[in-house]
Amino acid sequence: MKTIAIIGAGFSGTATAARLLTQPTSEPLRVVLINRSGEMARGVAYGTQSPEHLLNVPAGNMSALAHDPDHFLRFCRSHDPAVTSGAFVSRRIYGQYLARLLHDAESRPSQHNSLSRIVGEVIAVKTGPGPTEATLTLAGGARVGVDRVVFAFGHFPPRNVEISDQRFYSSSSYVRDPWSPDAAVRLAQSKRVLLLGTGLTAVDACLSLLNASSDRVIYAVSRRGLLPCTHRPSGPQPPSLDLSGRMEPIPATIRSYVHAIRREAQIRSQRGEDWRNVLTAIRRTTPALWLRLSLAEKARFLRHVQPYWEIHRHRAAPEPYERFQEMILSGALRIIAGRVVSLEEHADGVHATVRLRGTEQLSELQVDTVINCTGPSTDLKQLDDALIKQLIMDGLILPDALRLGIEVADNYAVLDARGRPSSLLYYVGPLLRARYWEATAVPELRVHAQHLADQLLSSMAIGATPAAVETSTS
Ligand SMILES: Cc1cc2nc3c(=O)[nH]c(=O)nc-3n(C[C@H](O)[C@H](O)[C@H](O)COP(=O)(O)OP(=O)(O)OC[C@H]3O[C@@H](n4cnc5c(N)ncnc54)[C@H](O)[C@@H]3O)c2cc1C
Repeated sequence: MKTIAIIGAGFSGTATAARLLTQPTSEPLRVVLINRSGEMARGVAYGTQSPEHLLNVPAGNMSALAHDPDHFLRFCRSHDPAVTSGAFVSRRIYGQYLARLLHDAESRPSQHNSLSRIVGEVIAVKTGPGPTEATLTLAGGARVGVDRVVFAFGHFPPRNVEISDQRFYSSSSYVRDPWSPDAAVRLAQSKRVLLLGTGLTAVDACLSLLNASSDRVIYAVSRRGLLPCTHRPSGPQPPSLDLSGRMEPIPATIRSYVHAIRREAQIRSQRGEDWRNVLTAIRRTTPALWLRLSLAEKARFLRHVQPYWEIHRHRAAPEPYERFQEMILSGALRIIAGRVVSLEEHADGVHATVRLRGTEQLSELQVDTVINCTGPSTDLKQLDDALIKQLIMDGLILPDALRLGIEVADNYAVLDARGRPSSLLYYVGPLLRARYWEATAVPELRVHAQHLADQLLSSMAIGATPAAVETSTS
């Protein structure tokens, strides 16, 4: 019997486990899925219970299975036959779908394969003493010996923004993790709220606030005050467009890439097409384009282009977008472009000072609660996480130079501190951004999960040879 441990049961861990369990194997395989939160198959994105938190990808492109594109759509239609492939359904339903996927794989595995679920936190992973063994230590001291380990630990709470006096961050008026159950409670209790960030997480937070009560004052601050664009309204998806032939010969500089994408979007807009088609088409080629860039060019992208890329690429579903815009128009939500320079707790609330963009002018705000909506932290060296600290300290993983995630080889093996691929430890999840840039959403992660599962079975000589899988991102 072979054993593969998967640390983390969000989308990535669940999709990998389901694939492993359902593939034919030449000897029994035990998959041990370990998750520190109680609910398996939800993760950060799909654990929300709020019905107004919608998927930001149409249902027709949210299958967890790379080889079965309509799998999620069929699940939706089994509950509501009216759901179309262009519909934006709730993330809560997606969580139910993932739970069903795991349940089905567990109850109908291939031949002799089995799943063990463990609720607990892995705080250390050691390799050896032999070349084929790894041992996991859980908080509480239990140990599990396995043949392979998949790190699927996903998203980490946002980084604290830099302010003059960091003491505020231990205040109960501050919510660092916008996806924690605590955030929802604090939102419900607060009349005056400051959101740090104006992206999709801020949209989610605003919708929760709107639901709780209407007499709120909400401020949302980001350096540029940029807001996410919206998807086209639900409806039939346009035919897919292939721009790889046009993008690949372009010189590997950010300036050339931006110029080419803008020109393509302009030409297509003039023909009456939707600019979003261009971004969707680029998505398939993005990993190849990213891999070609030098470190300096990648850094240039992060410094100058990333904020604009994010708002165009990661769009809000039409309905939440409209409600978000209504909040701005009604004055319930005030967007501020600037930099938060200080946050201080006083008897009458939190005093926030913001330096307005492009000026020396300071704006003073008074709020009850500050919620960090700046997006998941990918800077592994800065994380306060027992497992990550141990893995870095023991040289078992290598954070990338641009702090986007984790260094991996082609087969998802993590690189050690000296850049050598592990034969026991693998990674799948949004930290693949370091290697591929476009790797954080379901249409990409489902392909990575499938590839990884197939690679693992073949590396242990118990599965079929991995087959190439077509990435579907339309
Ligand atoms: C709010 C939000 C909304 C999104 N919406 C969409 C969308 O609509 N469409 C789309 O395509 N993509 C969306 N995404 C992106 C995408 O779906 C996620 O990137 C993906 O779900 C990542 O899943 P994951 O399993 O890698 O990570 P996570 O969801 O973060 O799951 C990781 C799991 O690992 C557990 N864990 C971590 N460390 C340990 C440990 N040491 N021991 C045990 N367990 C551990 C955590 O508790 C967690 O349950 C969204 C992302 C976010 C954050």
